[in-house]
Amino acid sequence: MEYVLQTENLTKVFGKKPAVRQVKLNVKKGDIYGFIGKNGAGKTTLIRMAAGLASPSEGTIHLFESNDLDEQRKKVGTMIENPAVYPHLTAKQNLTNYCYLLGLDPKEHVEPMLQFVGLTDTGKKKAKNFSLGMKQRLAIGIALLNNPEFLMLDEPINGLDPTGIKEIREMILKLNKEKSITILISSHILGELSKIATRYGVINDGCMIDEFTKEELEERCTQALEIKVDDLKRSEEIIRKLGITDYKVLDENKLRMQTNIERAGEINTELAKSGVMVMSSTVVGMDLEDYFMNLMELKNNQIK
Ligand code: ATP
Repeated sequence: MEYVLQTENLTKVFGKKPAVRQVKLNVKKGDIYGFIGKNGAGKTTLIRMAAGLASPSEGTIHLFESNDLDEQRKKVGTMIENPAVYPHLTAKQNLTNYCYLLGLDPKEHVEPMLQFVGLTDTGKKKAKNFSLGMKQRLAIGIALLNNPEFLMLDEPINGLDPTGIKEIREMILKLNKEKSITILISSHILGELSKIATRYGVINDGCMIDEFTKEELEERCTQALEIKVDDLKRSEEIIRKLGITDYKVLDENKLRMQTNIERAGEINTELAKSGVMVMSSTVVGMDLEDYFMNLMELKNNQIK
């Protein structure tokens, strides 16, 4: 089994307004899937549909490559928007209650979960008096009680201070690495997601703009020198002579060199000396934040 969540043509319309439009999304087993979009882009609505909390207007959902969603959802943990924490109960009482709801023995599950989410020393303190980070950790603990293979976390770092963000980030990495849990995490904070995500889906105005891996993102965002030449074969010989092996042939007269921006002048001179005509020489690539903003703006312009 390769895919944990797949949607095809998934659409949700509220009244006349589509919140999610024909979305195709693919979360692979083992992924930390960063689901990125601005406020109101449709992230929560999509997660709610995957979790069975909202019904699609159109389209299909597969979990663990099956359309028997009720059965498959037993293997899914979710934390969506306002966490399911009872404010008047302590962390221990919250977890105990959820154990009963799930038919689990609290004696077996509560203490280890309190430990895992770092809330063992909260004693009689009620959840309403917790910091936002503590509440989020408790909510993740609740979502983990049924021992899920796939965890969907909607904006778990929204509103947290840097320490809170770091704690959640480390918890997500631990769940993914040590417990092999596939995780979908939605956020509008790109910089944070990029520290942990292995695959990305970018949603804007209900439409999935693009899906790509961490490696693809790195490649797109790393600065590189792109040259357009009239003789590709000869150009390859020359740049290899210059000791440059980290290059890619893009088409019949375009090359991209990943690590040699600072050598642009030297490369162009050597090519010219050997009779190669350099039609263009450009530095490509941008930083992460710019890349995402560009993706979204491009799409906005298409919609307008
Ligand atoms: P946020 O981070 O702000 O929650 P989001 O990406 O999760 O953003 P959604 O909450 O899915 O976005 O909202 C997508 C759109 O659907 C928004 O325009 C929102 O106002 C609308 N919407 C969401 N839920 C409902 C609802 N129950 N009834 C009507 N409109 C809704």
